[in-house]
Amino acid sequence: MNTLEQMAERGHERVSFHQDRSSGLRAIVAVHSTVCGPGFGGVRRWRYATEAEALYDALRLSEGMTYKAAVADIAMGGAKIVIMLPRQGHEAGEAEARAMGRIIQSYDGSLVSGEDVGLTPQYVDWMADETSFVMGGESGCPGGDPAPYTARGVFNAMKAGLAHAGRPVDFAGLTVAVQGVGNVGLNLVRILVKAGAKVLAADIDELALKRAVVECGVEAVKTGEILTRKCDILAPCALGGVISGKVIRKLRCAIICGGANNILDDYDEDGAALKAGGIVYVPDFIANAGGLIQLAGAYLGMSEEARETRIADIESVLSQVLAEAESMSSTYAAAVELARRRIQEQCQFKVGAV
Ligand code: NAD
Repeated sequence: MNTLEQMAERGHERVSFHQDRSSGLRAIVAVHSTVCGPGFGGVRRWRYATEAEALYDALRLSEGMTYKAAVADIAMGGAKIVIMLPRQGHEAGEAEARAMGRIIQSYDGSLVSGEDVGLTPQYVDWMADETSFVMGGESGCPGGDPAPYTARGVFNAMKAGLAHAGRPVDFAGLTVAVQGVGNVGLNLVRILVKAGAKVLAADIDELALKRAVVECGVEAVKTGEILTRKCDILAPCALGGVISGKVIRKLRCAIICGGANNILDDYDEDGAALKAGGIVYVPDFIANAGGLIQLAGAYLGMSEEARETRIADIESVLSQVLAEAESMSSTYAAAVELARRRIQEQCQFKVGAV
């Protein structure tokens, strides 16, 4: 399928390809929707095997951001930027970050960005030297590191998952398997351990895993085994597409609830297969909205108290979605339906709602 066909299928407004010769930056900017406000979405730096793979990631992630903002009741649309690295681990340098910042600035406020996988707070600060439309970072722009807020939201989402599964909402004695102990994963592990859970963790980055073992006492698990280990809650906190038909058959968890975006490889098929298998899948774009609430909320001038309330509300919103999903094909379908309803409500006077 060519790019325009893919955009039409998912409802994208704008997809642009950018390169900066002096820094070597190559990036795809996908703006899914600006119906409810500027497209909001972080920058992801990753080594993609092909351009088509990078485009697919940008399209899926930006669509999810539209739904995430809508359900979180944040007056923003959805966007995402992916930077195609020449090799994994390619240095996140100043020249590249500044070039990225200039590209974001060229959208004149219809795109607001921040950090995603592969970015450091310093990188965000360099971007912020070139544009007023990035959030997060250490000093250059407001909002701070979104990961602790995302992790808190995921923890609240887990509570809704436990209640829906008919279990006590008590983490003491529960086993949670966390895939990826980076920014979000490590913050989540800290909360889970404090709440009394036993945590199994895996990461392709040995240093990140060691930090989680030393700081939080997690049990280190091989990356190839983490998804299928016996646990109460499986928390994917690395990249998307990790739950596919092949994996679903081997799962030994009651609930899937993580920080990663696009956890399901195929929303419809995998969502339905999980439902049929009696596994509660807590839709990712609602569970991991804490970071968006913090950064986009700060951008829109929401008070800290209002943002905290919205992050706490993730639990009750998900209780509603999980209950509605009982009569639908999957919990993911129920989440998308709620997002579309919210977009209609928020934007009833605007044309082109998703
Ligand atoms: P990060 O780069 O800090 O952490 C990701 C971690 O996953 C890294 O330590 C990496 O080594 C590890 N990893 C990658 N592939 C793996 C694999 N196959 N097995 C095990 N570990 C693997 O990124 P992050 O900010 O923590 O984001 C993690 C996920 O959460 C992403 O999908 C991101 O889009 C999503 N997310 C992040 C935020 C946020 O606030 N940062 C908000 C919403 C969603």
